[in-house]
Amino acid sequence: MNKERKLIIAGNWKMNKTVAESLDLVNGLKRELASVKEVDIVVCPPFTALGEVSKAILDSNIRLGAQNMSEHNFGAYTGEVAAGMLKEFSVRYVILGHSERRQYQGEPDALIARKATAAHAASLRPIICVGETLAQREAGEMEKIVGTQLRGSLVGLSEEQMIETIVAYEPVWAIGTGRNATAAQAQEVHAFIRKELATAYGESVARRVRIQYGGSVKPSNARELMNQPDVDGALVGGAALEVRSFSEIIKNSI
Ligand code: PEP
Repeated sequence: MNKERKLIIAGNWKMNKTVAESLDLVNGLKRELASVKEVDIVVCPPFTALGEVSKAILDSNIRLGAQNMSEHNFGAYTGEVAAGMLKEFSVRYVILGHSERRQYQGEPDALIARKATAAHAASLRPIICVGETLAQREAGEMEKIVGTQLRGSLVGLSEEQMIETIVAYEPVWAIGTGRNATAAQAQEVHAFIRKELATAYGESVARRVRIQYGGSVKPSNARELMNQPDVDGALVGGAALEVRSFSEIIKNSI
């Protein structure tokens, strides 16, 4: 597949996998995906498995991501993990503002923006998630919701930082439901996001930002989704938990 931007496909393991299970999964991915050069491959295990997974992928084409981080660098924030601590495990990416954190932890856009700034300060690349609910889509509010989340979550980022930021469009109605956005629906929103980025940062920055699609991506729909001009990768939940499905998504996207 000839893409303007290099595809980036990340697996969000969420609150799944013990250390032993994480090693099984990542060792299987290493075997299956050793020859893949066309795609940036990222796995995002739970915090507890970062250390062991980091060692296991040292000599591979798989990169490490975390699922969240604190906006603070250190201090009295019980239960939080700082960017610098993630760096100790050679983490390169961090998912911010996933809809589950927006919903269950009530994370607002302004907090996500502060976390994104903290991530860049530590040379971590944030994967910033945005997406509307079904009710919002049906009310014709998709652009309003996605635009507001996007602008609010990027406050304070410079042009250079924006280029190193990944945006993940994840319609909430498609996450974990088996109901993916059609390729045309995904392309429409991705084009909208790129237009918003162009307004905020200029055309040349917007053209360089990678925008992932997330929401029930599986081996059978990956190719059509990745074929869209403004879809530059995927953030994968359920199908990232097994060697076979995650590696097939990647192979089918090339
Ligand atoms: C996600 O939660 O980021 C996600 C896209 O999940 P799933 O692939 O299971 O829909």
